[in-house]
Amino acid sequence: MARQTIDFGIDLGTTNSAIAVLNGLKPEIVKGNGDLDVTSSAVYIGRGGRLVVGRQAKNRLENAVAAWDVYTEFKRDMGSNKVYRFKTAGCEKTPVELSAEVLKELKGNVQQRLNEDVPAAVITIPAAFTQAQCVATREAAELAGFAQCPLLQEPVAASLAYGFQGDMNARDMWMVFDFGGGTFDAAIMKAVEGELQVVAHGGDNFLGGSDIDFGIIEQILVPELRNSFNLEGFRRGNERWHVAFSRMKRAVEEAKIELSRKEKCPIENCVFEDADGESVDFDELGIVLTRDKVIHVVEPLIERAASRCKVVLEKAGVDPSGISRILLVGGPTLAPYFREILQAKMDAPLDFSVDPLTVVACGAAIFAGTQRLVHVSNEIPVGGNGMECVLDLHYNPQGPDDDPLVSGLAAFPDGSLASATIEFINRTTKWTSGKIALDDNGQFRTRLRAEKGFKNVFDIVLTNSVGDKIPTTPDSIAYVIGMGLAGGQIVTNALSIALSENRVQVIVPSKTPYPFKKTCYELKTVTCCRKGTNERIEIPVLEGLNGDAGQKADHNRKLGSLIISGEQVARDVPSGADVEITLSAQSPGTLTATAYIPMLDQEYTAAIAFDGDPPSVEELKEQLRKERKHFEEAQGADPSLSKLLDDIEEKLGGAHDGVVARQCEQRLIETRILLDELSKDSQLPQRIQQVEDMMEDLSGMIAQHGTNADKQEFAQFIRQWADVHRSGEAHAVQQFDEDLRMFGRRVLADMPSFWVEWFMNLESRREEMRESRVADMLVAQGNRFIDSHNLDGLKRVVGNLCELLPQDTSDERGFNGTLARWK
Ligand code: ADP
Ligand code: MG
Repeated sequence: MARQTIDFGIDLGTTNSAIAVLNGLKPEIVKGNGDLDVTSSAVYIGRGGRLVVGRQAKNRLENAVAAWDVYTEFKRDMGSNKVYRFKTAGCEKTPVELSAEVLKELKGNVQQRLNEDVPAAVITIPAAFTQAQCVATREAAELAGFAQCPLLQEPVAASLAYGFQGDMNARDMWMVFDFGGGTFDAAIMKAVEGELQVVAHGGDNFLGGSDIDFGIIEQILVPELRNSFNLEGFRRGNERWHVAFSRMKRAVEEAKIELSRKEKCPIENCVFEDADGESVDFDELGIVLTRDKVIHVVEPLIERAASRCKVVLEKAGVDPSGISRILLVGGPTLAPYFREILQAKMDAPLDFSVDPLTVVACGAAIFAGTQRLVHVSNEIPVGGNGMECVLDLHYNPQGPDDDPLVSGLAAFPDGSLASATIEFINRTTKWTSGKIALDDNGQFRTRLRAEKGFKNVFDIVLTNSVGDKIPTTPDSIAYVIGMGLAGGQIVTNALSIALSENRVQVIVPSKTPYPFKKTCYELKTVTCCRKGTNERIEIPVLEGLNGDAGQKADHNRKLGSLIISGEQVARDVPSGADVEITLSAQSPGTLTATAYIPMLDQEYTAAIAFDGDPPSVEELKEQLRKERKHFEEAQGADPSLSKLLDDIEEKLGGAHDGVVARQCEQRLIETRILLDELSKDSQLPQRIQQVEDMMEDLSGMIAQHGTNADKQEFAQFIRQWADVHRSGEAHAVQQFDEDLRMFGRRVLADMPSFWVEWFMNLESRREEMRESRVADMLVAQGNRFIDSHNLDGLKRVVGNLCELLPQDTSDERGFNGTLARWK
């Protein structure tokens, strides 16, 4: 029987991956090599390009030669431009290509065990995946030959496997606690109008089971080995000991896993030589791992995870008592001591009734059972062949109703439709639609009856006028009540654009469901973009770090930019021109940014280049330098922040790759947010003074040269300032300051006297300017424009002269967007 729904779900994990299939009502794991439920996400490529995936690849890490031809944890680099070099084969692979190999392996497992092709699969992604990482995951799926691959967030998948559905009590919230091999993710979940949603999420990208393994090595094994052996420079990360550490890690991991079932376990099957060539043989050493010893190592790691959970709860605005259950996901949660320690730190009861290693794949399969399989055209016979009848059916494979509508058309083999009937029978409940007569054209329409909580499969029975049963394609359809189709398909981090002066304009708030198309109409340019020049309108597109966009542009990660250059415009676009910005996406990973400029009636579109390149080390160092400067300027800044900056600097100074760069980028943004929070308060008096000075300047100018509208608007500012000043709210003052600046700039732009004054001011600063000959020329030109009352010319000269001034480094933060919001 051909499948009508995708039915296959894949957990493409950092450490382990798994594939499950929905046959009938329950998801089942399809085992891989060695009869294991999970396949290690490891790829080995050897001589002649021989490729091995899974545990056998991972084991090669222990072979001194092959170790350089094995890679694991490449999921961390999805969306980056990292390449992995395979020394022996002399080839390079991207994280996308390596992930595709894992997907192919899983596909192969199904082929081998079930003798079935997997044309499409639901693939899970962490809730924290950025757009670039989603795009990379889709690419991997495409490379592996999947025609369709809806992405589903891991905590949503886990919740589905636990039976949480869209009809849950709307006020019920639960947590998914996913402690994997190398990453920890916590998510608060709830069901909203038939859809499972991630309310808030967080975690630690560098916390997981392998920290337990290395903790055991460093805290238990190494101190013991040092007594008897020469182990100079015996450190993780030291190439000299790479293989020894791989072997110990494997042996320790095996013992640790064994310890989840026993009270103690010897560490065995690990041999290497010390610096003097003496054999370090664990079978002879007789080191025994006990729960007591391991608890010592694990406690602080769980403490870290628990403190991250608190942060996530706070972010969700939920009291710890507001969580009904904590669903455990990830291998390490199999250990009884792990659960005991964790339970002591959490209020809500832990639930570990579903296998934490396969729960995500199973949930993905359940979701896959609700996703219609789009058949490739050559797979559907266009007419009946032999005595088979092709049905063209219209229905939703899932929805909120328990009586979904199904309609369709039967193409009869011999063209005769006289008195044929169709019947739908629920395979589980045995409910039947009764025999429904087809009309003269072979069409029909009826309602089905479905039950909640599982996949309802309806067998189709077609009977002709003389009572013969005729086989049909398809011969059954499936329907599930509840779970939103978009389950998990929501924007987790707000999408916004960077405006000038480090301001930010949110276009797509977090939790917006896909697909979306959102436009912001209140934007204007702050610089001009003249036809044929290299001036440009720059619109950086940003993604929030942990949900919302924050108060400043640089509290976000930049995804890419929409740039309109002087080469592309049909006419000059002056400063102050209207621009409408639209962000749209069909599904995670397909973001399009569009700018419409009404005065040109032209539209500019950019597929935001999610190249996902992590910032270069130089770039990060430069950002760090600015942050330090900012820190020093912020009076009363907390010294612990300085420590945070030191940590980032140290990390940057050490060995680095894409992971470290991205980690540093993230920490920098986090530190920046903290710092801004602090300096806002400490700079309040200064800011108030600034505003008052500006009000005074403007008041004089507007009284003399302003239009009536300007005067009215300014009067409103004066009234508003009284309130803001009284409130003493740092944020309100900052907002007011920025609004007033914007107003000032707009008003002044229309006043010739302002430009003349500005020009004269620049003229007096000629000494400071670069390229003194050009400066002289511009000054002469400016004076001529003043004489001839050429305001536009004067504006241009002022702009050019400003360029020649040494760069003002105090306002160097942000992403240099060239739009501003006009209220
Ligand atoms: P990921 O989601 O990162 O792919 P998994 O959820 O598969 O990771 O977890 C892998 C981790 O679980 C490894 O560190 C492994 O040692 C650990 N693990 C697997 N089984 C057990 C067990 N029975 N007891 C303790 N730890 C386990
Ligand atoms: Mg996982």
